[in-house]
This record gives sequence, structure tokens and C-alpha cells, in this order.
Amino acid sequence: MPKPKAVIDYTRCHPERCDTGVCAAVAECSLGVLRQGAPWEVPYTLQDFCVGCGKCRIACPFKAIKMV
Ligand code: SF4
Ligand code: SF4
Repeated sequence: MPKPKAVIDYTRCHPERCDTGVCAAVAECSLGVLRQGAPWEVPYTLQDFCVGCGKCRIACPFKAIKMV
């Protein structure tokens, strides 16, 4: 079975509610798979490179990241 990948639920992701618009989950992804172009923008993933560790999911206070 393929490993799960991080998927952002954009109905839940609201960077304006995160501290200074910075995605708290990005800092948890040491591989740089989860990215945010600039503060206040919604983050995105380079899904092919996600190893499914789930650290970003735990870091998001709004449960906007799911492992699928
Ligand atoms: S994924 Fe979570 S922590 Fe990151 S910007 Fe969206 S709501 Fe904020
Ligand atoms: S599951 Fe792990 S590798 Fe994938 S985006 Fe989240 S922190 Fe990065």
C-alpha cells in the first residue's frame, strides 16, 4: 500500500488566523515539502516528496492537514 500523503483541506486552512499569517506547520516539515509562498498565503505541498510523517498534521491548530 502507498504511504499516506499530507493533503491540505482548504476549507479549514485560514492563514489569517495563524500567528502573523505564518503557517505553523511549514516549520515542522524538515524536508521542505510543505511550503508557503509568503505570510498570509495558503500553504501547499510538493506531494510527490511527502514521506507521510504526519508532523505537519499535528502542528496545524485548525486540523487543516489530513493524511490521505
Ligand atoms: S495549514 Fe494550518 S497552520 Fe498552516 S496556514 Fe493553514 S491553518 Fe494555519
Ligand atoms: S507529512 Fe511530513 S513530509 Fe509530508 S508534508 Fe507533512 S511534515 Fe512534510
